Amino acid sequence: MPDEYPEKLEFCYWGNPILRKKAVTVENPDSEDTAEFIRKMRKKLDEHDGLGLAANQVGCDRRVCLIAFPEKGGFSEIQPLINPKIIESGDEIERKEEGCLSFPGLYCEIDRPKSIKVTAYFPGEGEKTFEAFDILARIICHEVDHLNGILFIDHLSQMRRSLIKKELRQIADKYGK
Ligand SMILES: [Zn+2]
Repeated sequence: MPDEYPEKLEFCYWGNPILRKKAVTVENPDSEDTAEFIRKMRKKLDEHDGLGLAANQVGCDRRVCLIAFPEKGGFSEIQPLINPKIIESGDEIERKEEGCLSFPGLYCEIDRPKSIKVTAYFPGEGEKTFEAFDILARIICHEVDHLNGILFIDHLSQMRRSLIKKELRQIADKYGK
């Protein structure tokens, strides 16, 4: 089965139901269609200047995400991950501020594991298993959540979530459809 990708990518914000949809497995990770979709995603990520982007954020329900891998002095390398899966999470949890391109201007302290083990298909290279720590682990957890229809605000307690109700409504009013 060929993978289906949208012709034109539209950025999707809080309030758009696609953000709640669980993305489906990419069947042909090295196809030209997949490569073309990744090129378009990279353009969107560049425009929005983020550290990660999941396909549902640009209106596509395939399991593709882009991750900024930290390098010395910054985040120079953007790595596409296809069908990523977190296969292990460390016990140590860290609470840090997080944002999301689909929630402009909203930042929340979110608990994430400090270390994870990930399996993903790297285009042109095949499937790899690797460990990620700290900020990289956080970015990957955030993007894999997206592919499962989970948003960063879902990790907040009911009490903390109620504190950002107004901001959420403002984002949905301004950007949602
Ligand atoms: Zn996000």
